[in-house]
Amino acid sequence: MKGEKYSFIKIIVLTVKMQFKAVPGHMIVFLLLAFLEALGLTIRVAAMQRLFDVIAIAAEGKRDFTDCIMPLFVLVVVTCVQQIMNGMKFFHWNVIVDKSAGINNKKLFEKIQNFSAEQFEDAFFLDSLNKAKEGIKPLTVTSLFIMNLIFFDGVYIVSMGAYLFNLKPVLPLTLLLAFIPAFLSQVFRIKGFAKLEEQSAPLRREYDYYKKILNDRQYIKETRTLGAFVYFFKLFNDTLIKLTNKQWEIEKKIVVREQLLNSVTYIGMGISTYLLFVATISGEISVGAFAAIFAALTQIFDIMQTIMTWDISGINKDIGKVTNLIKIYDSAELSGLSGTHDFSKGIIAKNVGFIYPGRNEMALANVSVTIRDGEFIAIVGENGSGKSTLVKILTGLYRPSVGTAIIGELDSEVIAPRYIYNEISGVFQDYQRYKMTLAENVSISEIGIGMDELRIKSTLMDVGINTKYNEINLNTVLSPEFGGIDLSGGQWQRLAIARGLYRHYKFIVLDEPTAAIDPIEENMIYTQFKKLTKRKCAVVITHRLGTAKLADRIVVMDNGRIVDTGTHEELLSRSGKYKDMWNAQSIWYKREDIKY
Ligand code: ADP
Ligand code: MG
Repeated sequence: MKGEKYSFIKIIVLTVKMQFKAVPGHMIVFLLLAFLEALGLTIRVAAMQRLFDVIAIAAEGKRDFTDCIMPLFVLVVVTCVQQIMNGMKFFHWNVIVDKSAGINNKKLFEKIQNFSAEQFEDAFFLDSLNKAKEGIKPLTVTSLFIMNLIFFDGVYIVSMGAYLFNLKPVLPLTLLLAFIPAFLSQVFRIKGFAKLEEQSAPLRREYDYYKKILNDRQYIKETRTLGAFVYFFKLFNDTLIKLTNKQWEIEKKIVVREQLLNSVTYIGMGISTYLLFVATISGEISVGAFAAIFAALTQIFDIMQTIMTWDISGINKDIGKVTNLIKIYDSAELSGLSGTHDFSKGIIAKNVGFIYPGRNEMALANVSVTIRDGEFIAIVGENGSGKSTLVKILTGLYRPSVGTAIIGELDSEVIAPRYIYNEISGVFQDYQRYKMTLAENVSISEIGIGMDELRIKSTLMDVGINTKYNEINLNTVLSPEFGGIDLSGGQWQRLAIARGLYRHYKFIVLDEPTAAIDPIEENMIYTQFKKLTKRKCAVVITHRLGTAKLADRIVVMDNGRIVDTGTHEELLSRSGKYKDMWNAQSIWYKREDIKY
């Protein structure tokens, strides 16, 4: 996706196409209104000419003034109709913007669902995705602008051109002199801002990040206690200056070009007036025609000026975002086969290798493991040994770079993610703390069954959260920002586990969600967990070997590879990594009163 180039024209065509797909009826009405409005303007000039001609003749006494009534009436009617079309067009513009936002957002989220999770580890991808989200409104506004340009401005130029040509073939030159600079100036603007967007994206990402560090509740404690505020403030400030300089540099160029083109427009207006004057003096066109066109000339140049300086700077600046939106829509999704799990066949990773985007080293290399039906597996190993990566492969969240992962008979390479995630549950290290009620925090994992209060309560009990005697109940909002309370780190972890357990699953993964819970409590939670997952497949990552001991089998990882597999006793009988780890930790497990 990164390297693909889209030409300007292609982006415009795709933008309009997508907008038409979103609200076809409304777009057609908009086009018709723009078309009629433009035609109305030209007809109005013709009606004006007719009126002036009649008045001129009447003034010479060759005709009765009552003859003027009809042309005057026509002019009034045409003007009214044209004005109504204009009003309706802009009313419709707003309707379309509002309606499309929802539709296009929904479409984007549907698309995002079908991206693979490993893509979200890619900084470039995340950047495009963020910009794509911001491209929703510009998509609509740009399309409307383009359509207006063709069906209003275009139709006006053609019809006016035909009318002028009819009077004197050289006169349409007037239009060109006005139109070409306006057109060029817009093209330069759009291109200039697209370049700006592209060049400033990495800077903006940095800027937003520092801003977040300085403001966000999540960071504030650390920036205060560690005294890092000043440091981040400096970084923030430096980025801001760089960003502003970049903007200034490009905007300067745009403004200079625009001013040059502006002067060309004024010269054009002078030449046009001269041409008209000569044609009238030589009797080539009537005085009525001169008056009408002279009046229209201001109108023509007004319209061109509007196109030229119309505040579409919003669209201009966002054209990069629209481009990103289109790239996201156009990019390949995961293969979309459907399928249903059969976990009686277990979960099989065969010679799996995995490499993170932007990294050179394999995070996993040649890993093969099978989790049998109903088995409870623990994965142990040092930090960075590949445990988290492996469970993401086993749950189909990441697809192997090499080798295959067959999850309950489904190959994660060819089955669409939403089928893979069926009946799989997981609690990861970076679980979420939803700023919602306690009940929602649990039940969000299984929105299909709605809020089953009894089930929520019993799941909470399983992880040691008792809502009966606590000050918190199911409706407590878990966020001070939304008028509720916050939980402790350990309570949040229990809650995350409850969320994982609440879902209907046949395969569940827990990636160290108990680091903030003390070892005794952790052991209690896992003992309960073992009971709950009795006939299901379960994988648990833990640092505490007292927990690993509960598992049917333990997988030992080191440096992206599986170095040993077996029961606790088997692994202890061999002198290896596991035994070393056990010896180092056994001091924790010496207490006689606790049975591990
Ligand atoms: P563990 O869970 O055992 O601590 P991980 O599976 O998280 O280990 O990481 C394995 C290796 O992959 C490490 O070398 C780590 O630096 C790398 N890694 C993990 N996550 C990412 C990521 N999002 N992008 C790049 N490299 C990563
Ligand atoms: Mg990990």
